Amino acid sequence: MKTTSTPAHVHLETFGCQMNEYDSELVRSLMKQDGFVFTEDRERADVILMNTCAIRENAHNKVYLHLSELKKLKRQRPLVVGVLGCMAQNLKEELTDIQPLVDVLAGPDAYRQLPMLIRTAMRSQEEGLDQKGLAVDLSEYETYHDVEPDRNDGVNAWIAVMRGCDNFCSFCVVPYTRGRERSRDPQGIIQEAHRIAAQGFKQITLLGQNVNSYRFDDWDFARLITAVADVPGILRVRFTSPHPKDFPLPLLEAVASHPTICKQIHLPLQSGSDRILGSMNRTYTNREYRALVDRILTLRSDIVLSTDIICGFCGESDADFEETYRLVEEIRFHSAFIFKYSERKNTIAARKYSDDVTATVKTERVTRLFDLQRNISCERNREYLKTTVPVLVEGDAKRSAAQGMGKSDGNITVIWDKSAVSSKPGDMVSLAIYDTSSTTLYGESPQLS
Ligand code: SF4
Repeated sequence: MKTTSTPAHVHLETFGCQMNEYDSELVRSLMKQDGFVFTEDRERADVILMNTCAIRENAHNKVYLHLSELKKLKRQRPLVVGVLGCMAQNLKEELTDIQPLVDVLAGPDAYRQLPMLIRTAMRSQEEGLDQKGLAVDLSEYETYHDVEPDRNDGVNAWIAVMRGCDNFCSFCVVPYTRGRERSRDPQGIIQEAHRIAAQGFKQITLLGQNVNSYRFDDWDFARLITAVADVPGILRVRFTSPHPKDFPLPLLEAVASHPTICKQIHLPLQSGSDRILGSMNRTYTNREYRALVDRILTLRSDIVLSTDIICGFCGESDADFEETYRLVEEIRFHSAFIFKYSERKNTIAARKYSDDVTATVKTERVTRLFDLQRNISCERNREYLKTTVPVLVEGDAKRSAAQGMGKSDGNITVIWDKSAVSSKPGDMVSLAIYDTSSTTLYGESPQLS
């Protein structure tokens, strides 16, 4: 274990959503200010932190798997293990009882205390004690407005403009793990956007658990996103994750007309059945959701729509599922994240309803919907064939360094052959689309087409 004169090395792993990626940037910033050094190499680390997600079963299981792997490492050498984020908040008893190897638990509102908790845990280990550090209180005010995130390199910078959620969808743990909604001062956000532009980032993604419910004095989300989109040097502004109930006309008009705000809206549907939407506490009906989609596409027909859908929520009958299926057929989203319902501890659904759709039926429904959506995504992407698409270059394609990768305005991945198109990350290039798949557009220089 390091002495106080040598910096401790920290390895940080992040699970879950973009908000967690952003929170890891905050954690790195806070800990670097306190003298900690970060390492990609787990074997070299004195401290291993996991920034966790409690929303999806998959991310939750991965954290448990990683924790069991750390047991061996911890037997070999002094090591402080910390669990941060939503799981720390939601499973505090389970994690400290079942996982004696966890030394520090810090919830999403407690990151400022993390350096102190880790130093205390390190000292306790040196002294042969087993003192746990626990900070999981939720705050009504914490927005980390004064912490400049230690951002990952790239073309995109995230800014969390609000935290928490007051919606209490019955399947969701976020209101319990991240607390009540609170928004940041718009002036601080706009100043941060100017600094981001000066650092060379080209895109800003505004984040929040319920981003479009942003409100600070007389500022709403439409006013905020427009002000951020007006910052010189920023080529694109995106936002996630919104709730369908918070799309007043001025926000839709801002998306439709401001040249820098991307023509893309993620509109989580969750279910097409009014009965299930009611038990999910989503506060809209099938008809209201369809009316919102109509309003969006009437303002601008080329807005790219994506969604989230849960299959097999408590009490979902075949007829309920068919309503979801039909709505997906009708709206023809460009893409959809389709999940099987899995009960999350402490949610309204866990307390009130029975998780009564069998695993087999959930799998069948997910598979049917996934197949439908894949065909729709293929068709929607084919609409780009022989068109020219502006693409913000992000870097190399995952599969080959000979190919470049970027995103269209609608957030669709575009791939091209680097030998034919010269570009570097942050450039905006126009590509002629010559081929497509369900997830990707393939482009070439317009002169070649
Ligand atoms: S809006 Fe609903 S699904 Fe989204 S974070 Fe809030 S409670 Fe969860």
